[in-house]
Amino acid sequence: MSSIDLRDVTVRYGRTTVVHGFTESLRSGEWLGLIGPNGAGKSTLLRAVVGIVACTGEIDVDGSPLAHRSRTRRAALVAYVPQEPLLPDDMTGAEYVMLGRAPYVSYFGTETRHDRAMVDDVLERLDLGRFAARRLGSLSGGERQRLVIARALATEAPILLLDEPTSALDIGHQQQALELVARLRHDHGLTVISAMHDLTLAGLYSDRLALLHEGSVVASGPATEVLRADTLAEFYGVRVSVHLEPDGTVVVIPRRDDLADR
Ligand code: ADP
Repeated sequence: MSSIDLRDVTVRYGRTTVVHGFTESLRSGEWLGLIGPNGAGKSTLLRAVVGIVACTGEIDVDGSPLAHRSRTRRAALVAYVPQEPLLPDDMTGAEYVMLGRAPYVSYFGTETRHDRAMVDDVLERLDLGRFAARRLGSLSGGERQRLVIARALATEAPILLLDEPTSALDIGHQQQALELVARLRHDHGLTVISAMHDLTLAGLYSDRLALLHEGSVVASGPATEVLRADTLAEFYGVRVSVHLEPDGTVVVIPRRDDLADR
């Protein structure tokens, strides 16, 4: 269970600022969805939190700066599912997911029974058992993507960053992966920040959304406030209609141009 506070997080590449003063606080168990068009800065922000790119501003976990923790401690606190992970083709599924246990396995140490049980449990919960002994190079894009999620969950880190975690998955496996994250959040207070292109799914699973445009937050709040047809038209240049289901789910539907008007 961990909280995370981002204050004025800013990332520059050379002279270009790609994330401008991002500020958000998440309590343990909260889920923040980052949305925004391509190039808005979502991946860069997640990469800054995980420490892959340098940033200014402050990132605190449980009230103390993440930057002051050792690399290993950081890896045990924050698990990350990158958008385009590099996977070693000759590693098996189980070996790859075991990498998620690295923060707990000493350099020369071997994994413990608990490490193996964790890996088996995550593989089973994501219905990946049959890929445990398969080489990654022989798997489909969706199967590999699910193993990347499994590796992050095997870390048991209290904070999970997801960058387009389900973009290669069919609708069934999307739901399975997101439901597993939702369950871990409910049962164990997992704190989640995800970048997702599917706006309906983003709204469905997040407590609140932050819409980024050119590195700045231009709208934030619950899905009902952020997923508005006029807002999406302004920042994505898209024509959609937005429906509110009786259970509160916000559904975003793309609209075709009316050919008769052309
Ligand atoms: P998103 O995830 O919202 O699609 P990104 O965070 O990937 O956006 O990119 C934000 C901006 O930063 C884009 O304009 C992109 O071209 C730029 N950018 C990303 N990575 C680099 C880099 N390594 N060097 C320079 N510019 C980059």
